[in-house]
Amino acid sequence: MRIKQFKAESKKLLDMMINSIYTHKEIFLRELISNASDAIDKLYYQSLSNNAGGLNRSEFKIRIETDKDSRILKISDNGCGMTRDELENNLGTIAKSGSLEFKNENEKAEDIDIIGQFGVGFYSAFMVSDKVVVESRAFGSDEAFRWISRGAEGYTIEPCEKDTNGTVVMLHIKEKTEDENYDEFLDEYEIKRIVRKYSDYIRYPIVMDCETRRLKEGTEDEYETIVEEKALNSMVPIWKKNKSEVTQEEYLSFYKDKFFDYEEPARIIHSKTEGNATYSALIYIPKRAPYDYYTREFEKGLQLYSSGVLIMEKCPDLIPDYFSFAKGLVDSEDLSLNISREMLQHDRQLKIIAKSLEKKIGAELKKLMTEDREKYEEFFRAFGLQLKFGVYDKFGLNKDSLKDLIMFVSSHENKLATLAEYVGRMKDDQKTIYYACGETVDKIELLPQSELVRDKGYEILYLTDNVDEFALKMLDEYDGKKFANICADELDIDSDDDKERLKEKNESGKDMLGYMQKSLDDKVKAVRFTNKLKKHPVCLTSEGNLSLEMEKVINSMPTDEKVRAQLILEINANHPIADKLLNLYESDKETVSEYSKILFAQARLIEGMPVENPTELCSLVCKLMTK
Ligand code: ADP
Repeated sequence: MRIKQFKAESKKLLDMMINSIYTHKEIFLRELISNASDAIDKLYYQSLSNNAGGLNRSEFKIRIETDKDSRILKISDNGCGMTRDELENNLGTIAKSGSLEFKNENEKAEDIDIIGQFGVGFYSAFMVSDKVVVESRAFGSDEAFRWISRGAEGYTIEPCEKDTNGTVVMLHIKEKTEDENYDEFLDEYEIKRIVRKYSDYIRYPIVMDCETRRLKEGTEDEYETIVEEKALNSMVPIWKKNKSEVTQEEYLSFYKDKFFDYEEPARIIHSKTEGNATYSALIYIPKRAPYDYYTREFEKGLQLYSSGVLIMEKCPDLIPDYFSFAKGLVDSEDLSLNISREMLQHDRQLKIIAKSLEKKIGAELKKLMTEDREKYEEFFRAFGLQLKFGVYDKFGLNKDSLKDLIMFVSSHENKLATLAEYVGRMKDDQKTIYYACGETVDKIELLPQSELVRDKGYEILYLTDNVDEFALKMLDEYDGKKFANICADELDIDSDDDKERLKEKNESGKDMLGYMQKSLDDKVKAVRFTNKLKKHPVCLTSEGNLSLEMEKVINSMPTDEKVRAQLILEINANHPIADKLLNLYESDKETVSEYSKILFAQARLIEGMPVENPTELCSLVCKLMTK
């Protein structure tokens, strides 16, 4: 018999499959089951549109059989089948132009990318088989044909016997090699697992003969093992059901089973959307972050189904990074299993779905915040960091949709507060939203600058995460109110008199303050008197866009680029030390210079920064003690 060659493109794809190093080879079963299901769909549809009648939907099924001795895995369907020409055309020429173009453009891209992301069709059978035999009889025809191929060398077609319409695909499973063991594809339990994993929702029963032990009839304790045909798939996905048909129990057990969380989620979103994009989605918002959530290893993504068939385990394009905690799935008829010329279009479809999902998740989180504040705070403690990153990320592109979801601990009862709540509590004369940064709330409360602001009755947001201040700077304002870092910005909370007095004091102390700055070897940009301190003698502030906290964050990043905030040493104008310094400057400049160093070191310590020269500081303090 003449061996026919595969068409060039098909051969390329076939080669890829045969030599695949892809680790999820099991997906071949998904592909074959999906073909079988399509073939049944086709026949069913034909019968409906021809008014042929006679075809009973309940008789359709997909059958799987394994034979360990002959190493054959069989997948049969009673669908439309293929004529000789169809066998020739459909299996001999598979124009996967989309995938091949993709492969050519990305010559270096591993096979994994392409196999993992798209349906690869019938040829994926060659990932696990060294010979594939397809017997098929087209509906309405009385002839059947056998297609045989051992892969690269080509294929043959010959007539064969087959009683009923449909197709049988027989895979001769590869022998074990040093690196790979294909035996699992002949194992009943493995097959069941794979079917449940990928094809649970196929709309026709996928059946297999399974051994069951049961009580022997007429006896009370005698058992017998019988072989029964059992369906492996549940056929109806819960996301395709109406909300009213699904119990809370079902939602939860589905979540725990599928997404490996031992806890209940904070929120469940189940929606069916029609319009620009038609899709069903079942999204869960977990309560707690998985252990690897804030690491590079974490992969975001939702499962992607096309008409009930899983086509991608983790599709990252479905959700933005700031909602990467969402788990769940999307099922859409608008997406095809295959890579094809329409790939780009699918991409666009995917984007529309992603946009719509993003809105839904945002709205749901807002709802959670108002309906169950405690739960929202629990969620926020787990994932708030990610939301704040979202505000800052992409130059603030998404800040508007996220600004009402973020919270900070505030000096008002030391509880989490939203920006809206803060603004709602602002005093009549308050123009600015005050915040302060530090490692912990306790440390921030001890900052000398915070005393006076709180004394005036103004609330302060305590920023303890690295990203916090960056996020607020990106927001720039909320509800028309600017943000002010109480350690860096001019706070404008003094009365006019106070301001005037301070100005005079700075004016008259100019020489002394300049001398102090010089004594500090220009480590600070200026030294000046301030009204912003209550009890404390000194503090460090920064000028310009870079605060001290931001300096710390940026410098802790593993890059060579180091930045320096422009520091100002501020001395409490109303503290005895102020006059002491002014007096000393007249009589004993040397001591003013030493005091400058001590005060600078104190200010650094209060800010949580290391003292640059501890030995010098210690001897200066000792000198003072023994004076
Ligand atoms: P796809 O299913 O994406 O078109 P495949 O490579 O999986 O690509 O299959 C190629 C073609 O072979 C299908 O389009 C279909 O026409 C035909 N085919 C495959 N399996 C079957 C089957 N079980 N019954 C009938 N036709 C089939």
